[in-house]
Amino acid sequence: MNWYQETLYSGAIDHGYRQAFRVSREVARKATEFQNMVIFETPFFGRVLALDGVIQTTERDEFIYHEMLVHVPMVAHGRATRVLIIGGGDGGILREALRHAVEKVTLVEIDRGVIDFCVEHMPKLSGGAFDDPRLELMIEDGIAYVRDIERTFDLIIVDSTDPIGPGEVLFTESFYANCKRCLNPGGVVVTQNGVPFYQNDEIRTSYGRLAPHFADVSFYVAAVPTYVGGFMALGWATDNVDLRHLRPEVLAERFDKLGLQTRYYSPGVHYGAFQLPPYVSALMR
Ligand code: SAM
Repeated sequence: MNWYQETLYSGAIDHGYRQAFRVSREVARKATEFQNMVIFETPFFGRVLALDGVIQTTERDEFIYHEMLVHVPMVAHGRATRVLIIGGGDGGILREALRHAVEKVTLVEIDRGVIDFCVEHMPKLSGGAFDDPRLELMIEDGIAYVRDIERTFDLIIVDSTDPIGPGEVLFTESFYANCKRCLNPGGVVVTQNGVPFYQNDEIRTSYGRLAPHFADVSFYVAAVPTYVGGFMALGWATDNVDLRHLRPEVLAERFDKLGLQTRYYSPGVHYGAFQLPPYVSALMR
C-alpha cells in the first residue's frame, strides 16, 4: 500500500511535521489550467481530495468544516436569502447552504475542472447540489466577480484554497473591500483562514486587511482532523457588531426553527467557537 504525503508544510512553511494517508487506491488524477487534482481512497477517511498536494476535504470529516462555514453565519444572520460562495468547487458548502430557505446561491469557482472531478469521483460531497434550481454557477475568478458585480448579497462565504496558487488573490485587501461593497447592510463575510498553530500569518494578515472595511472583524474556530494542527480559524467580518454576541438561547431558538440535523454544528458549539484561545486572539493585531 502507498502513502500520500501532503506537501502543505514542506514548502515555505516547514515545521518538520507532515500528514500522510494510507492509500487503498488512487481513484482519479487530472491536471487543469489552474491546479493538479487527485482523489484517492483511504481505509479510514474514505475518499480524499487534494489540490496541488494540499488536502482539501475528506469524506469522513468534511461535515465539520462545511457545517461551520455555513450554519454559523446563516443562524447568526437569521434571514439571509442571497448567498455568494467564492471557490467551493467540491460542492460541500453549496450542499449545506441549500439546506436553508435561500432564494438563490451564487457559486463562483475559477476552475470548472474541480466541479466536474468532484461530481464524478466524490459525489457525496455535493449530494446533487449542483442540480438545484436555486444555484447560479459562475466559472470565473472570484476577485473579478466581486469587483464587477452590481448585485448584493446577505452572506459571502469564501471557501478558497490556501493563499498559494489561484487562491492567493482571495486573501487580498482589495478582494475584501469589494466583498464589503457587494454586501447588504448587516451582511456577513466568512472565510477559510488556515490553522493558526501552523499558519499563524494567515490570521495576522487577514485581520489587518479586513479590519479597515468592517465594524466587527474576528475569527471563530472548528477542529477538523485533517486540517492538522488543532483548531482551524474561520474569518468573520460584518458591520453588525451584535451578530457575534448572540446568546446561546437565541441561537437555539433559531436553530430549532430550522429543523436541521447536524453532526458538528450546534447552538452551543456556535457560541463557543467565538471564544478564542489566547494564542489565537493574540494574532489579531
Ligand atoms: N475547504 C477547502 C480547503 O480549504 O482545503 C477548500 C475547498 S474548495 C476545493 C477550494 C476551491 O477554491 C478550489 O476548487 C479552487 O479552484 C477555488 N479557487 C481558488 N482560487 C479561486 C479564485 N481566485 N476564484 C474562485 N475560486 C477559486
